[in-house]
Amino acid sequence: MALVDFNTQRICPSCGKLINIKHNFCKYCGVDLSEIKPIGMDDISREIAITAISDPDPSIRKEAVDTLGDFKEKKVLGVLTWILLNDPNEEVRKEAADEIGDLHHPYSKNILSFALKDQSPKVRKEAIEGLKKLKEKVKAEKMDKGQPEERGEAIEGLKKVKEKVKAEKMDKGPKKLKEKVKAEKMDKDNQKKEKKNNFNFYYQIGVAIISPSFTMIYLSSYRLYLK
Ligand SMILES: [Zn+2]
Repeated sequence: MALVDFNTQRICPSCGKLINIKHNFCKYCGVDLSEIKPIGMDDISREIAITAISDPDPSIRKEAVDTLGDFKEKKVLGVLTWILLNDPNEEVRKEAADEIGDLHHPYSKNILSFALKDQSPKVRKEAIEGLKKLKEKVKAEKMDKGQPEERGEAIEGLKKVKEKVKAEKMDKGPKKLKEKVKAEKMDKDNQKKEKKNNFNFYYQIGVAIISPSFTMIYLSSYRLYLK
């Protein structure tokens, strides 16, 4: 495996090529590297990175890759990418793919896609896992961004519905009440009228029946008196 001078060089986390440590972009694939520090600035990471790419024992290189991944820092992406591309041992490359997936940086999409064509099925499988993690991260971020807005909209929506219902109640409330009072009044008036009509009817019948009777009684008494 070719050696990297971490004091003067850095590795592009997207294409895995060596570039000048002072460059803020990759001259091969064009990605912006200003957000990712070169590993050469950090003593501990640099020593482990050197072990990860140069130790003769694959199990030590694998251990070093595992440790670099544990740091959970973007600056280890370059060296992990380099190892995934260049390490002769499939277990070490598999470990690199695993750690790259765990860091789920969008730049890693390129190198993980490339690793889908690795000669080792173990590495190809891990590359699939890594791409899956990347996609899940993007999804989770979208949901994180979307939720407060959606929640806000939902709250606004509920507010509007509540206000509408309130307005309708105020509109309908007095109207209904007025209508009810009116109807009740009409009912009472009708009842009164009906009672009055009934009274007049029976009164007239009474008068019609009683008056002739009185007249007849009166006339009969008068006749008796005359006799
Ligand atoms: Zn690049």
